Amino acid sequence: MKRKCFWRNPGYKACKPLTGHHKTRYLIIGGGVAGLFIAHYLLKKGVKKITVIDKGIIGSGSTGQSAGMLVAQLETAPIERLATLYGRRAAVRYAQALKDAQGEVRRLIRKGEIACEYKKHSLKFFKNESGKGKHLEESISVNPIKFIQGMAQYLRSRGVVIYENTSLRKVQENIAVTPQGTIRFEHIAYALGTSVRHKTLENYVTTICVTRPLSSKKIRRLRHAGKEMFFHDERQSYLYGKITQDRRLLVGYGDVRRKSTGAAARLHVPHVRSIKRYIRRAIGANVSVHRAWSAAYSLSKKPLPYVSVSRGIIGGAGTQIATIAIASYLASAILGEKHPLNRLFTDR
Ligand SMILES: Cc1cc2nc3c(=O)[nH]c(=O)nc-3n(C[C@H](O)[C@H](O)[C@H](O)COP(=O)(O)OP(=O)(O)OC[C@H]3O[C@@H](n4cnc5c(N)ncnc54)[C@H](O)[C@@H]3O)c2cc1C
Repeated sequence: MKRKCFWRNPGYKACKPLTGHHKTRYLIIGGGVAGLFIAHYLLKKGVKKITVIDKGIIGSGSTGQSAGMLVAQLETAPIERLATLYGRRAAVRYAQALKDAQGEVRRLIRKGEIACEYKKHSLKFFKNESGKGKHLEESISVNPIKFIQGMAQYLRSRGVVIYENTSLRKVQENIAVTPQGTIRFEHIAYALGTSVRHKTLENYVTTICVTRPLSSKKIRRLRHAGKEMFFHDERQSYLYGKITQDRRLLVGYGDVRRKSTGAAARLHVPHVRSIKRYIRRAIGANVSVHRAWSAAYSLSKKPLPYVSVSRGIIGGAGTQIATIAIASYLASAILGEKHPLNRLFTDR
């Protein structure tokens, strides 16, 4: 078993780091799903002169290490809870924003012809491991690194400037300072994933194992049991997974709090043990795990992600679809435009 992320995108050519001085109107720090979707929504509104920088390569944070299950529901903000807290109308708007975000992903993949192993699945939700489970909703499966880097290529083809391996050191008035250059900007947005610091945000480590390719018989058995794409709501944690395009079983498990920032984490061995037990029960003893990795993501302690329009920061959405929904909101807010989520997100 290799202690390494499974996802690869061999065709991707990274952008050069920033050197010298650059001028832009909209500067976005962070090239994960949050940062790229802020750029995307700004671009859709006809905005020009957008620049994104990332301290690593695009997708090197939580986004490229995720399971690539783009689900518009689940654990982070159950609609019933939002309805109690903020009223039924606001909760319905949030649910709709998540659906819209999912639709936007589909449109983008189609329009940008992004080759990312896109597949539509009906996600099956299990209350516990022994239960029958029910089909929840139509969801999207992608290879997350191909998706996000494919999106970066699409944005570049539309005029967005991207600098990779370019870390933000500090901001002095409207100049962003990086190790080898500076960027003068008019508006700035921070989409730093686990590096965003705010009292309402916490970082969690979760782990994924991917098996070697499975026999047709095993794949049939998994499909029959509703494991094409699934989610188990265990009392203490949760198990999630899917069948990959090359016929492997991917299973994710666990959420352990951690204090440090950065998306990469040491492999969490107890998580791996739990996942292996699960795989044994699902498809039998003689299945070996090919790759396993742990990574961190940021989650809000509150039912809603953290968005500060005045400081241009987003984080803590927990899932990619929720992140995309708030990216849409922040892009509108930056331009001073109305958005269905206006009433939910005031600076908190
Ligand atoms: C193992 C795992 C599995 C997951 N599976 C799923 C899933 O199946 N479905 C789902 O919806 N969600 C999943 N998630 C959660 C999801 O991946 C994250 O919520 C989401 O990707 C966060 O996106 P982001 O853009 O906010 O953060 P990131 O993707 O972490 O992006 C932040 C970027 O900012 C950059 N950055 C940080 N500091 C600086 C700096 N100073 N200068 C420049 N750049 C900087 C980083 O390099 C990084 O690329 C999973 C998370 C993990 C860890």
